[in-house]
Amino acid sequence: MEYLPLFFDLKNRPVLLVGGGDVALRKARLLTRAGALIHLIAPEVCEEVKMLVEQKGGQIELGKYRKSLLQGRVLVVAATDNQSLNESISFDARSANVPVNVVDSPALCTFIFPAIVDRSPIVVGISSAGKAPVLARNLRARLETLIPQGYADLGALVGRFRQQVKQKFSTVDGRRLFWEKILSGPVAEKVFAEQQDEAEQLLRSAIEAAEDKSPMGEVYLVGAGPGDPELLTFKALRLMQQADVVLYDALVSPEVVDLCRRDADLIYVGKRRDQHTLSQEGINELLVKHAKQGKRVVRLKGGDPFIFGRGGEELQALSEQGVPFQVVPGITAASACSSYSGIPLTHRDYAQSVRFVTGQLKSRQAELDFSDLLATNETLVFYMGLHTLPDISAGLMGAGRSASTPVAIVSRGTCKDQRVLTGTLSTISDLQESAQLPAPSIIIVGEVVKLHSELTWFGEVHQEANHALEQVQQLSA
Ligand code: SAH
Repeated sequence: MEYLPLFFDLKNRPVLLVGGGDVALRKARLLTRAGALIHLIAPEVCEEVKMLVEQKGGQIELGKYRKSLLQGRVLVVAATDNQSLNESISFDARSANVPVNVVDSPALCTFIFPAIVDRSPIVVGISSAGKAPVLARNLRARLETLIPQGYADLGALVGRFRQQVKQKFSTVDGRRLFWEKILSGPVAEKVFAEQQDEAEQLLRSAIEAAEDKSPMGEVYLVGAGPGDPELLTFKALRLMQQADVVLYDALVSPEVVDLCRRDADLIYVGKRRDQHTLSQEGINELLVKHAKQGKRVVRLKGGDPFIFGRGGEELQALSEQGVPFQVVPGITAASACSSYSGIPLTHRDYAQSVRFVTGQLKSRQAELDFSDLLATNETLVFYMGLHTLPDISAGLMGAGRSASTPVAIVSRGTCKDQRVLTGTLSTISDLQESAQLPAPSIIIVGEVVKLHSELTWFGEVHQEANHALEQVQQLSA
């Protein structure tokens, strides 16, 4: 972030404005809207700006800028077309630690004005750090159409009752949940329909009826898809935007985590092979603890929570403790990698069924029975199998599957750096030994792998996806 957005209280505070033309007029309008007391200095001053400044309690001084005018000012704005004058104002202000803006000269500024969507008391400021003002204005135009005028009234209504609600609820969470319900319910609807009195009435009754007890939170077990953030469902995104706490895994990409509510506590509970940060019991306890504090907890998982995701175990723990939950399915790695690598998991000519198999061989589970995995018209997808690839291919061949059976490794599927390596049961281990594709990877075994070279379209699609993602991020930021 090149500039920190702040909102400045200028009511009845002294601001120096240097310049008396059209540009100064625009700045004077903005500053007086925020209640500033302007002292304007310029050799000549246009009539309109003079009237405005004086009407709003400010002063006009005809003359030349001098450093002593900075004394006691909280801001200075230079709106002159004299470059060397602008430079000395900027220099003086910096040495006196007075925030300074020189119109159209970002290098001389210590603060800049954003494009503004004004629904006072709700105000949105948009900045491109001075790099693309037209883009910021375009975005403002879009936001203008997205944010109903009623937001101003709604903001004012909330402001009037804020204190009363604060007294009613002893905890921050209690207040927040109350307001969230109000702002997405009938009170807000009444305000948008311009029925202010009814809205106020409803709000009063809601405050009266509300109880000050810590409510039980909820856990959302959310599948986040395996990499590309665009593979999220709308439901996942909605719940992520409401979360108070987010517990996320190593397999959830940073771009996805970025889409969670800005204020949410993000807790990394990543589990990588052989390197568990937190035990499963520890995760279960965290989920229960936060939910019991009334929080909305999103448990964000790579792929689908119920496919090799231990989602079931987490829900059992919640259910034992009486914590309510919802599950949002995600696109599992097999489906996603299949699509993004052009390897359909079933195909009328090659595969009539598909099986998802864990490649974690020497774990608590019983050894894989390879003789059960020999059907040539079935696609096998191995999860967590990269490190046991030699055992998997040897096991399958040893049990009788043909050495020429096609195999693909899809590494970091759907991510920008997805890679696909193809070979056969007899060659794939050596190929991977030299290629060293990184985890996470799935291994697809079966005739369908032959279609990979025909059906690949990954690159182009991904570019569009990223563009769309940036737009979502801008809107949710
Ligand atoms: N619940 C997840 C799977 C978790 S098990 C899902 O439904 O996808 C972890 C395994 O998933 C990894 O070892 C790897 O085999 C696979 N995996 C997860 N993300 C992947 C990705 N982006 N590309 C390839 N494989 C992936």
